[in-house]
Amino acid sequence: MTKELYDIAEQPPLGIVPPKMHAWLIRPERFGKPTEAFQQEVVNTPAIADDEVLVYVMAAGINYNNVWAGLGIPVNVIAARNKAGEKEDFHIGGSDASGIVYKVGKDVTHVKVGDEVVMHCGQYDRNCAWVKGGGDPMYSPSFKIWGYETNWGSFAQFTKVQAQQCMPKPKHMNWEEAASYTLVAATAWRMLHGWDVNAVKKGDVVLVWGGAGGLGSMAIQIVKAAGATPIAMVSGQDKFDYCMKLGAKGCINRNEFDHWGMLPHWKDNAGYAKWMKGVRAFGGKIWEVLGEKRAPNLVFEHPGETTIPTSIFVCETGGMVVVCAGTTGYNATVDLRYLWMRQKRLQGSHFANTEQSNQMNELALRGLLDPCLSRAFTYAEIPVAHQLMHDNKHPHGNMAVLVGAKDFGLGASGKPPVAIERAALPKGDVHTTPHPYPMSEPLPSVAEAAAITIADDGTRVGDLMHRGIIACAPDDTLAQVAKTMVDHEIHAVVVMDGSQATGVVSQTDMVLARQGRTSEQARALLAQNIMTPGCATCDAGLLLSEAVSLMTGRRMHRLVVTENGQPVGVLSMTDVVRKIIGE
Ligand code: NAP
Repeated sequence: MTKELYDIAEQPPLGIVPPKMHAWLIRPERFGKPTEAFQQEVVNTPAIADDEVLVYVMAAGINYNNVWAGLGIPVNVIAARNKAGEKEDFHIGGSDASGIVYKVGKDVTHVKVGDEVVMHCGQYDRNCAWVKGGGDPMYSPSFKIWGYETNWGSFAQFTKVQAQQCMPKPKHMNWEEAASYTLVAATAWRMLHGWDVNAVKKGDVVLVWGGAGGLGSMAIQIVKAAGATPIAMVSGQDKFDYCMKLGAKGCINRNEFDHWGMLPHWKDNAGYAKWMKGVRAFGGKIWEVLGEKRAPNLVFEHPGETTIPTSIFVCETGGMVVVCAGTTGYNATVDLRYLWMRQKRLQGSHFANTEQSNQMNELALRGLLDPCLSRAFTYAEIPVAHQLMHDNKHPHGNMAVLVGAKDFGLGASGKPPVAIERAALPKGDVHTTPHPYPMSEPLPSVAEAAAITIADDGTRVGDLMHRGIIACAPDDTLAQVAKTMVDHEIHAVVVMDGSQATGVVSQTDMVLARQGRTSEQARALLAQNIMTPGCATCDAGLLLSEAVSLMTGRRMHRLVVTENGQPVGVLSMTDVVRKIIGE
C-alpha cells in the first residue's frame, strides 16, 4: 500500500507516487530574507499533464532566482501566477535538479519511469502557435523559467516538469554535481553557440567575464571544447589557477584597471581621453595574455553597466558582445562610433532552448564539462544556502542541495569518459560584489504596459521653481556668462534669442569649453558656441515627480519652466534636494 507521505531521503518504491510530499515553500505573508521566506511544509504532490513528467528529486541546484522569489521583489511570482489563473498561494522554487522519473504523461515518449535525469529550466506551451510553426521556444510568449516563473520547482521531493526538459544524467557525476550545472551551462551554450555567424568557432578568442563564477566557469569550458581560446576575467590573482585548470589561456585581474563604469560624455575630452587610456591599457593586457595582438571575437558579458563600454571597445571588428544579465546595472553606455564603424554586434541572450540545452548536456555526458560544484548542502540547509547568496557570502562556482539523496557523493554509476583535472577554488573564496537581480524580468510589451502608479505628494513645478529667468544673449562671451553665474550664485544661464529660449550654458559646458584652450581663448568664446542647444522645458503645472524624471532621463540638473509657452523660471535639482530636506 502506498504511504501517504515519505520522509526526506526515504525513497518510495520506483513509480510509486505518494499523495503528499515534503517541500520548502515561499508564501507572500513571509516574503523577506531567505531564512524567513522559506519554510518546510507538506503539500499535495502535483498532478501532471499529458506532456509532463514527475521526477523524484535527488538533488537541486541553487540559483539567485529564488532569493528574489523569497523577497517578493521585483516581482511577486505567486501573485503573478494567481493573476494568470493558477490557484496555489505558495511558490516551490528550484530551477536545477537531478533525479529519477517516477511518472510520465500519456504523450511522453522520450523518457520512462526509472530514467535518471537532469532538467533544464525552460518551459513553454507546446501548443503555442509560434513553437508549432517551428519558432525558437525562447521567443515564445509562453516561455517561462521553471522553478521561478513556474511553481513546483526542485526544492521538494517531487518536481513537475515538461518532458522536453529532461536530459540524461551524466553517469560519472554524483547527484549534487549533476544538479548544479544545467542552468548556467545551457545559458552559456546559447550565448556562445546560438548566434549564427558570430557563434564561437575554432581559433576564436573569447573574453569571459566572471571566469570563476557560475556562468563564466561553464563558458571557459565550452569555448575550449569548441577549439577556441578563452581569456578569463576575475577580481583576484587567487582565482587564476582555477580558471586556467578549466581551460583559460590566461587571466586578467579586473582590479588592475580603474576605467570601469558608464562612458564619460563624448564631449568631455579630458574624461574621454582618460577612459581611452584605461581601455587601451586593458586591450594591451589582452594581447599580453594571448601572446599576440588579437582582439576577442566574442565577449561573454553579464556584469553589464560597468563593463559593457570596455567589452564593446575591445571586441574585434565584426565580432559580438553577447550579454545575458546586468549584474552591476542595466544602463549600458555604448560609443556608437565603435559599434557602427567596426560593425560589432551587441546581442542579448536568455537561457537556452531544448536543442541547445541537450547540445550542452552532450558535453557533460562526454565528461568534458566540470560542473564546478563549489559547495553542497543538506535539504534542511536550503534557506541557509540562499541566505549566503543573499548576503553575498557564498563561494564562486555552483551550489547544490541534497533532497532525496541520502548523503553527499552518491549517485555516480560510471567512470568519467575522459579524465579531466578537477579545478578547485581558492580556500575561503567568497563573492565580493552584491548579488544580482534575477535572470528573468517580466517586461511588459508596448501593448501590455500597464500604467505605473507612484506615490506623489502632488507638488507642482510651479510650487518650487525659482521665478525669473537669468539669461544671456547668444553672442555674450563666456566671460560675461561666467560673471552672471557667479553674481547670481547659479549653476546655469538660459540663452535667450529674443523671447525664445534656445539653449542653456551650464557650469559643465563651461568647464568642458576650457579644455585644450588658454583662459583667454575660453573667455572669448560665445554662449551660442558652447551652450547645450535645445532648452529642456516643462510647464509650471507639471507634477514635480514628472519633472524629476525628465531631468534624470536626460541626465540634466535643471529645466526652464514655462507658463503659456513663455519661459518664466527655472527648476533645478538643488531645489528638489532642498524640498527633500525640508528647507
Ligand atoms: P556568479 O556566480 O555570481 O558570477 C558572476 C561573476 O561576475 C562573479 O564571479 C564576479 O567575478 C563577476 N563580477 C561581479 N561584479 C563584477 C563587476 N563589477 N565587474 C566585472 N565582473 C564582476 O553569477 P552567475 O551565476 O555567473 O550569473 C551572472 C549573472 O547572470 C547574474 O546576474 C545572473 O542572474 C545572470 N544569469 C542570467 C541568465 C539568463 O538566462 N539570462 C542565466 C544565468 C545567470 P569576479 O569578482 O571574480 O570578477
